[in-house]
Amino acid sequence: AWILHNDTLIQEEELAISKEDRGYQFGDGIYEVIRIYEGNLFTAKEHIDRFYASAEKIKIVIPYTKDVLHKLLYDLVEQNEINNGQVYVQITRGDAMRQHHFPQETSPVMVAYTKTVERPKEMMEAGVHGTFIEDMRWLRCDIKSLNLLGNVMAKQEAHEAGSYEAILHRGEVVTEGSSSNMYGIKNGILYTHPATNLILNGITRSVILDLCRNLGIEVQETAFTKEQALEMDEFFMSSTTAEIMPIVRIDGQEIGNGSPGEATRKLQQAFEANLKLTVKM
Ligand code: PMP
Repeated sequence: AWILHNDTLIQEEELAISKEDRGYQFGDGIYEVIRIYEGNLFTAKEHIDRFYASAEKIKIVIPYTKDVLHKLLYDLVEQNEINNGQVYVQITRGDAMRQHHFPQETSPVMVAYTKTVERPKEMMEAGVHGTFIEDMRWLRCDIKSLNLLGNVMAKQEAHEAGSYEAILHRGEVVTEGSSSNMYGIKNGILYTHPATNLILNGITRSVILDLCRNLGIEVQETAFTKEQALEMDEFFMSSTTAEIMPIVRIDGQEIGNGSPGEATRKLQQAFEANLKLTVKM
């Protein structure tokens, strides 16, 4: 398959990354995952904006304009003839002799690749299980950093408990998932953690909050506790790949009546309609 190396499309076998790439050694870089529906990059502008914002927060200067990057990613998707899938793109601070502080001269190294992925329709229909895991990540979760050890450890623990996602909490307060945002609905009001430094402000999250406005679902960007989570009428998570995924059990305990809720369904339908609209652009 073709991959993007900086601003050049190459065959993936040709990729060579330095042993001292700072992404490889320190996780010193940032990334994005963008969904491809019918050959189109969904909410590409929002993902590209967040890519540049994350880079800026760690003082990596991306040596292309947003428009150029957008075009490069589209070329990659077209070259690989991806219809439904995703594009992964990362940029690191580049290759330099190993020392913690930034090297004087840096050339960021960008790599992007595509893969075919189907929508997780059955799971979205039936719902999945979640497990509470203490959020032990750092305090800049707003940066889409390559350092995912905290997320990986949490997901593995949830996985070993037989569940789909780790529901992270700092003390009693639910923050987000290991690779998703979390929402509860109680008495018709949707609650989700505010977009602070403690969560990644998901692009899917922004789409959902817009949909709520259109559907007349009241939103409160207010954190809730583990105890409140278990008392919600409906619960779901969201991400680029999982879309709107109902969570029907947490730590083995049923949420609501143990099946995806009505408002969650409505949001899923509105999200799907939105995809079709976006695809036509
Ligand atoms: N939080 C974390 C920690 C994530 O890794 C992700 C997925 N990248 C999300 C939230 C959801 O973000 P998005 O909707 O932009 O995929």
